[in-house]
Amino acid sequence: MLLLARNIPLELESLVKQILTLATDLRWTWSHDGDTFWQYLDTKTWTLTRNPYAVLQKLSVKRLTELHTDEDFSKHLNTLLGAREDYLTKDCWAEQHFTKSEQAQIAYFSMEFGLSEALPLYAGGLGILAGDYLKTASDLGVPAIGIGLLYDEGYFRQYLDSEGWQHEMYPHNDSRNLPLQPVITVDGAWLTIEITLPGRILYLQVWQAQVGRTTLYLLDSNDPLNNPVDQAITGRLYAGSEELRLIQEIVLGVGGWQVIEALKLDIKICHLNEGHAAFAALERARCFMNKNNLNFWQALWATRAGNIFTTHTPVAAAFDTFPADLLEHYGQHYADTLGINPEHLLNMGKMIADDNNERFNMAYLAARTCARINGVSELHGVVSKKIFSGLYPDWPLAEIPVSHVTNGVHMPSWDSALADKVWTDSCGKDRWLGAQECLDSKIEKLDDNEIWSLRGQQRTDLIHYVRRRLSDQKRRSPNSGQPIEQAQTILDPNILTLGFARRFTEYKRPNLLLSDQQRLINLLSNTQMPLQIIIAGKAHPKDNTGKHFIKEWFSFLQRPDVRPHIVFLEDYDIRLAQHMVQGVDLWLNTPRRPWEACGTSGMKVLVNGGLNISELDGWWAEAYTADVGWALGDGEQHHESDWDQIEAQQLYTLLEDQIIPAFYHRDVEGIPIEWIQMIRNSMSSLTPKFSSNRMLREYTEKLYLPALADYKMRNENGVELAHKLEQWQTQLAHYGDNILWGDLRVEQHTDSRSFVVSVYLGDVPVDYIEVQLFADAKNPTHSPFCQKMNCETAIPGSLNGFIYRIELQSNRQVEDYTPRVIAVHTSVQVPCENHFIKWWSGSRTIV
Ligand SMILES: *Cc1c(COP(=O)(O)O)cnc(C)c1O
Repeated sequence: MLLLARNIPLELESLVKQILTLATDLRWTWSHDGDTFWQYLDTKTWTLTRNPYAVLQKLSVKRLTELHTDEDFSKHLNTLLGAREDYLTKDCWAEQHFTKSEQAQIAYFSMEFGLSEALPLYAGGLGILAGDYLKTASDLGVPAIGIGLLYDEGYFRQYLDSEGWQHEMYPHNDSRNLPLQPVITVDGAWLTIEITLPGRILYLQVWQAQVGRTTLYLLDSNDPLNNPVDQAITGRLYAGSEELRLIQEIVLGVGGWQVIEALKLDIKICHLNEGHAAFAALERARCFMNKNNLNFWQALWATRAGNIFTTHTPVAAAFDTFPADLLEHYGQHYADTLGINPEHLLNMGKMIADDNNERFNMAYLAARTCARINGVSELHGVVSKKIFSGLYPDWPLAEIPVSHVTNGVHMPSWDSALADKVWTDSCGKDRWLGAQECLDSKIEKLDDNEIWSLRGQQRTDLIHYVRRRLSDQKRRSPNSGQPIEQAQTILDPNILTLGFARRFTEYKRPNLLLSDQQRLINLLSNTQMPLQIIIAGKAHPKDNTGKHFIKEWFSFLQRPDVRPHIVFLEDYDIRLAQHMVQGVDLWLNTPRRPWEACGTSGMKVLVNGGLNISELDGWWAEAYTADVGWALGDGEQHHESDWDQIEAQQLYTLLEDQIIPAFYHRDVEGIPIEWIQMIRNSMSSLTPKFSSNRMLREYTEKLYLPALADYKMRNENGVELAHKLEQWQTQLAHYGDNILWGDLRVEQHTDSRSFVVSVYLGDVPVDYIEVQLFADAKNPTHSPFCQKMNCETAIPGSLNGFIYRIELQSNRQVEDYTPRVIAVHTSVQVPCENHFIKWWSGSRTIV
């Protein structure tokens, strides 16, 4: 939003512009260098808001005049502007991979973006990931843009009453203080997107946020052209009726793609961060169809190669779904514009076509409109294969087309200024901008004293922050029963500090530590080797169980023997998370496996030298080894009713016998050698691996580049292939079932054998399919086997009857092998885009 109207004297204009340049580039959210700058401009506003844009808005002309002639300030300003210029123009990792063009090629759609407290458009992990993604795209020069919604009120802010019960507040996101600019079209107008809702047009204003090299576009329904109800569509995140949620997702997908069209961006990859944004894939196809005179299905073929779907859901029940009649209401007109039957639209969101009992599932829609699907950790990839398997009937589980890219976090956003310095000294300033070569071996050389000073300083900073924040919290609710003075002396900078902060919800088991209160109290009040705990977290407004968990902690904290050792901080957000992950010694995560698709908060302590104790779920299941941290559970899923208790006991025992003694076991110089070795291992081996730098490079290499190649191939001869592929699929759908198998003959040779089978394809052209010989995995001796069989001869007198043969050396049982026919086509992802499969059945002769 433009500066507040006021008379800025002419000679100050260029100064204001320069400050504005820094304030509107969210790169400041991960550059520690700027902090003193903003503080110097306006200490009060900076300290209270941590928002450079707000600082600038509040600067008086008098202060600007002072700054104008302030040489030190000028120097600092020029240094920052120079550093920014440097960053923006420097060679970057992605240049080797993407054709050089000014234009973005990847659009990343997400319902939430967590970039900074100054732009609070997120609820939790999904949004933080999206924020970290954009920052990393900027660092690496990956040509991506973000597309999301501008919420007037965002997600709720939390406060607890004197009983410890959570209440929700929705402060207004005042656009004057958000680091955003309106998107201006070539005509000099504010870009407004129009989409059709039943009986009306919805107008959406478009804003942009600059995130270093990348741009985030945000859609906003708060436009006076809309009726008052529609103005509130982009009001709140994850609140309101199903209907409102559906409209928000239409805005994100359909409206979001329209932004790309309006700005004529040459987007080739459309990346859906969770199914919420799946309508974008439909809108992309619709626009393509209109431009190229195709039908919708052909257009979907032409565009799908460039669509990628990242799923974050670990259980089918948690998918984002809508009642079919709601979708009929909102989809009727849209189906018309696609030129398809409303039933066809509905079926794209159902597991089973025409099933009247099914809700419309956004993840299914996404899976059907994207050529690549991935989960967000190795384990989640495996779990997702199961939950999506129904979309690929008759396919073996191992071949369900869901891969994985494990999440990572944007290290520069989560490191402390001090950790930043330590890493810079060892690994250089550009360490997160490239391929992270040798970071591990360099950081491994840190000596014990350096590590222990870093830890001590960061822990102390956190405790001071906690005391300030807790005092503020108490001042706000004077009847909380505790004097403010207590807040000012609470916790001790020399004590082992455990952090636990996340959404309070059943599967995360936020109260596992409370299972045996006396055992916990013994740890807290141990005078030789005490433990202290900092807790934070919100429960979703409708999650009463979650709210009860918070209340339970709150009641526990009222005990005089507990109060000095545990703090519950209200209103968990990015700021608080940053302080916590920088200062705690130990980060605890207790989800019920396999419910934590990945989990990212534990990754944020790595760069700062914190250690993890976590359930073997999500990322920790692949990160854990005994020399980097501690594990809960046994790496299996459990449904026994007493399993939580077993893990709680395991948690206490680990703390009592291993973790706490390791922290307090000191050498003559007061250094905990074992503990520090663990930090060194964790910092060096895990930090690069679980950084978003690794994540985005993996997305690029594993998904973006192959998708770009497929997309290019698919459109290389105009729309010719789109026509062909649609015909290919329709033909298989019509006639594939009529394919007939003949007998399977196995010929035993001395040290090999041949499988020979006859197939009558009928109306299916032979080049539409592939005949394969398949054998499933048989643990532990055999991995899965699949190989193409060769078409040997045509069977005389038959319509597309052929003999297929393959010769192999193998000691597996003959019965393990089964031929099958599947659809194949260059550049098409099978079975993701076409799951046709027909297994051989008949009698087998061995000769
Ligand atoms: C990192 C982060 C999350 C996500 O953490 P999980 O480990 O996935 O629960 C949620 N909220 C905030 C504020 C965060 O910083």
